[in-house]
Amino acid sequence: MKRILFLLISLAISTKGLTQGAADSLMIADIYKHSLTQALCYEDLRYLCKQIGHRLAGSPSADKAIAWGERTLVELGVDRVFRMPVEVPQWQRGTKEEASYTYRSEGMEHECFPSLTALGGSVGTPKAIEASIVEVKSLEELAVLGRAGIEGKIVFFNKGLDPMLINTGAAYGGAYPIRGKGPSEAARYGAVGCIIRSLTLGDDDYAHTGATQYNDSLARIPAAALSARASAELSRALKLDSALRFRLHLHCEAKPRRTQYNVIAEWKGSESPDQYITIGGHLDSWDIGEGAHDDGAGIVQSIQVMRTLKQLGYRPKCTIRVVLFINEEFGNDGGETYAAICKTEGLRHRAALESDGGGFTPRGFSCELNDTQFGRFTEWKPLLEPYGLHQFRRGGSGVDIRPLQDDVIGLFGLAVDTQRYFDYHHSGNDVFEQVNRRELELGSAAMASLIYLIDQCGFE
Ligand SMILES: [Zn+2]
Repeated sequence: MKRILFLLISLAISTKGLTQGAADSLMIADIYKHSLTQALCYEDLRYLCKQIGHRLAGSPSADKAIAWGERTLVELGVDRVFRMPVEVPQWQRGTKEEASYTYRSEGMEHECFPSLTALGGSVGTPKAIEASIVEVKSLEELAVLGRAGIEGKIVFFNKGLDPMLINTGAAYGGAYPIRGKGPSEAARYGAVGCIIRSLTLGDDDYAHTGATQYNDSLARIPAAALSARASAELSRALKLDSALRFRLHLHCEAKPRRTQYNVIAEWKGSESPDQYITIGGHLDSWDIGEGAHDDGAGIVQSIQVMRTLKQLGYRPKCTIRVVLFINEEFGNDGGETYAAICKTEGLRHRAALESDGGGFTPRGFSCELNDTQFGRFTEWKPLLEPYGLHQFRRGGSGVDIRPLQDDVIGLFGLAVDTQRYFDYHHSGNDVFEQVNRRELELGSAAMASLIYLIDQCGFE
């Protein structure tokens, strides 16, 4: 009798589990079907890239992107759409950057005009500067040369990303300090300018910009990035003529900070409206290219998550927000402001999910969870693996959502195939044409599936 009772209880438990699992599986299938046949995210991205274009925080084109984001979110028909004021810097590149160098070989003088772009935040050069070049591979090598080897020269950091790292984000992270600190470290030893090899794994003529951070206690010297190919050519020219003269004329300048906005759509939960789930990406981009992968893709995917769930007739248990963050690139003001306001308002976040790795084929998710929560998260593997989502790894989520970390149960990032991401990142080649429609839609479907599971099941 006991044995029969035990079997009946076991059957009831497994049937319940099966029913929930089957319901989840059907819902995820519906999400994918909708995302791959009716999604509008690719057309949203076309509009953002082609009608608005690049949108550096603080710029008039970022104003246009904010207005577009608000209109697009209103069309979703959720409970409320609002703007959250954010103070952002203003920096303008000005007219085209100019650079050239001359070198002598075999008795001939050669003049070159390398592809170059000012680093974000760089000071300009009221008059062109011209100086000889010293090439280094690292901050350590710079320190060894010291003032005797650096003073009065332009420092050329010629270090590529480590090709042996399969995680290209780690390769970028390894070279990033050169862009962030290199100009100030060069100034420490009396350099008059700084150029860096672009932080890319590509071998082409695109120069890649990105923020540099000046050390306030050191002189601010002009700083720019050279394309990978131009860096190789300059290095070759230096071997032929170590006395070559490099001329740099940047027209960029900083202006006072101003107010722009995070744009937020909120869909009230039906069972736990005081628990929040935030989905987002950053609306701003660098001021070259179109910010298609970085991070137009994350913006349109986030909007599509809410559109997909809405059009499938889903009723969320928790309150779901889509946040179009402003100014990730130049100080993370949107993310910091959002987290600070959530804290002030006492918002309880169950989770936040960001897409900011480009609109490439999704592979899974990165997450910041404790052991128990991570165990719960991996129980969803069988539901997600049929869609090619195999990566469930700890560490990393998104720059915009990380400031929420003290007030959130779980932070997640859409993990994509990043092998080509740094070919486009922060360059004139980050344009709409480089985004594949199906890959973009698959990313949105993966995000919607995770949001559905978090909303239904949570982690505890
Ligand atoms: Zn980004």
